[in-house]
Amino acid sequence: MAYDFDLFVIGAGSGGVRAARFAAGYGARVAVAESRYLGGTCVNVGCVPKKLLVYGAHYAEDLGQAQGYGWSIDGATFDWKTLIANKDREIQRLNGIYKNLLVDSGVTLLQAHARVTGAHSVEVDGTQYTAEHILVATGGWPFVPEFPGREHAITSNEAFYLEALPRRVLVVGGGYIAVEFASIFHGCGADTTLLYRGELFLRGFDGSLRDHLKDEMIKKGVDLQFNSDIATIDKQADGSLLATLEDGRTLEADCILYATGRRPMLDGLGLDALDVALDSRGFIAVDEQFQTSVPSILAIGDVIGRVQLTPVALAEGMAVARRLFRPEEYRPVDYNCIATAVFSLPNMATVGLTEEQARLQGHRVKLFESRFRPMKLTMTDSLERSLMKLVVDADTDRVLGCHMAGPDAGEIMQGLAVAMKAGATKRVFDETIGIHPTAAEEFVTMR
Ligand code: FAD
Ligand code: NDP
Repeated sequence: MAYDFDLFVIGAGSGGVRAARFAAGYGARVAVAESRYLGGTCVNVGCVPKKLLVYGAHYAEDLGQAQGYGWSIDGATFDWKTLIANKDREIQRLNGIYKNLLVDSGVTLLQAHARVTGAHSVEVDGTQYTAEHILVATGGWPFVPEFPGREHAITSNEAFYLEALPRRVLVVGGGYIAVEFASIFHGCGADTTLLYRGELFLRGFDGSLRDHLKDEMIKKGVDLQFNSDIATIDKQADGSLLATLEDGRTLEADCILYATGRRPMLDGLGLDALDVALDSRGFIAVDEQFQTSVPSILAIGDVIGRVQLTPVALAEGMAVARRLFRPEEYRPVDYNCIATAVFSLPNMATVGLTEEQARLQGHRVKLFESRFRPMKLTMTDSLERSLMKLVVDADTDRVLGCHMAGPDAGEIMQGLAVAMKAGATKRVFDETIGIHPTAAEEFVTMR
């Protein structure tokens, strides 16, 4: 049978755009449908605008520290509207770049919602298209639990477009988004409280790092309240919000941001009418080649809920394009040693096993830690400290994990991820000569 397209991609986010561009580059006839924004979550309401806001928030610290270097900053003020307007302009520029990337690669771009109507058919704006393969790359959407007053809470989607900086913010959650937005709001000047239901936020990260970040955020003035959760939210006569916690305490705020995880975006996608199986958490179930239970339908990225990070969606998109249209170059996605950063203030980043994971896996571990005041801060009033930690297998000398909290942690961790992928031992770290004076050199001088 002749199909309209070789590949029909649903969603022009990180994974979808990568798969579409490369498939088209390999000579496939490709269409992409995008209902909301080109570039997807990462470009519009994720990584990119988040990082811009973190940069914005960090200026509060930079300006304060500049005084130690002789700068006078009297009269410095901050305007949220300017930050948001400039961020919006940059995102618009990126939207245009994504459009050109697709169109220039020969992809047919349909800017509308798509619904899968059969194993080889997709409906967009009332038109049916057929394709040999359908790739679902529809991403995720914020999940907010059910409770009275839920409608008064916002999510990260809205936080990027707030018209004014709220005076008092409550952030609920203990994952990446909660910690990053607590840092953004606090840095920009809001009175910020983070409520997390567990003992300590950032579950899954190395324990030393979690403790360190907790201490640093408290030092900066973020009110961290663990073992706390909201039971109800009421809107008061003056427009402010009153959160009643599970333990009966009340907190007032002007904005309550829920960052309690993300669900797969399957709304109106039509998969329920087909035999596409979901996993126990509701994400699309795929095999190691990203094939769903309907062989012609594939899925990648956040909608499969493996590792919800842009570079992972990119790698999955690439793998699908190669497997379908350039099989001789196909390599499976390697989920080992994925480096990741939390762009909190201070940043933290990690690659490989945490100390806890290494012990659980039965490794006899040797630990190396360095805690220090970053050089740049020595002439300032800042009391911020950095932490670096190596987890090493005592028997083989292999470095199992690298962890850091401090300025530029994400930038530093990327290079260490290459070393870990190459199987570096602690001895190789020791034999590497440092770059002086940097913070990064600590990773090769810890003994
Ligand atoms: P998405 O990028 O979400 O793209 C899916 C696209 O599909 C969307 O554009 C959507 O509109 C479209 N779509 C959905 N349904 C349909 C339909 N039926 N028809 C047509 N189109 C449809 N990751 C990092 O690596 N680093 C970070 O710093 C980082 N920061 C983040 C900050 C925030 C606040 C958030 C929310 C996420 C962040 N992430 C970060 C995660 C990252 O954004 C995602 O992992 C990544 O975008 C997933 O890519 P994707 O292609 O799976 O989906
Ligand atoms: P996460 O899964 O990272 O964290 C969700 C948090 O919400 C956890 O602390 C969880 O608690 C808590 N939670 C879940 N359900 C409830 C509930 N019903 N009531 C109260 N708290 C709840 O999700 P995020 O939303 O922060 O981010 C989604 C994903 O996006 C991340 O996992 C990451 O993959 C990606 N991302 C990456 C970034 C980066 O690379 N810098 C930045 C932002 C997002 P508990 O731990 O107890 O389960």
